[in-house]
Amino acid sequence: MGHAGGGFNPLDIDAIRRDNRLPELVGATAKLSRAGAAFKCLCPLHQERTPSFYIFDGGARWHCFGCGSRGDVLDYVQALHGVGLRDAAAMLQSGDLPKVQTAPLPAAETRTETQERARQIWCNAVSARGTLAARYLASRSITIPLPDDIRFARLPYGKQGQEFNAMVALLRDAGGNSTHFP
Ligand SMILES: [Zn+2]
Repeated sequence: MGHAGGGFNPLDIDAIRRDNRLPELVGATAKLSRAGAAFKCLCPLHQERTPSFYIFDGGARWHCFGCGSRGDVLDYVQALHGVGLRDAAAMLQSGDLPKVQTAPLPAAETRTETQERARQIWCNAVSARGTLAARYLASRSITIPLPDDIRFARLPYGKQGQEFNAMVALLRDAGGNSTHFP
């Protein structure tokens, strides 16, 4: 006895979308790599040698810049297996398709969060005068008195979050205003 056979087990499209993430599904046949808050890989839907298949929106949508294909997890199964929506939904709901475990995607930072982080970096940075940043500039034969728009900071970098010496610069527009900080 089984649950197979249409009719008795109505397909819940929204739940199928929610429960099936593109990284797990695509990762079963392609090698995913991170691209910021997205994943990228060689497109499973066309032949290519450099990755142009991007999974974004927390793993819910894809866009291939090579062949122009795009959509959600149901569109992907339809395109990959040449089936219609109903069959694609049934394949996902029954777990017929191979999947892999993927680490959760980092949430995309909002513009406000990015600005706040930049503001904190700027406020915690110190005048570059007499610091390693000044010595670095001197080593590049830049010996003018340093403006206050050039500062020195220790900033975390890379996966381990290890801190490195950094030179921080405040960008201004042509009118001399910083658009980010009053
Ligand atoms: Zn493609």
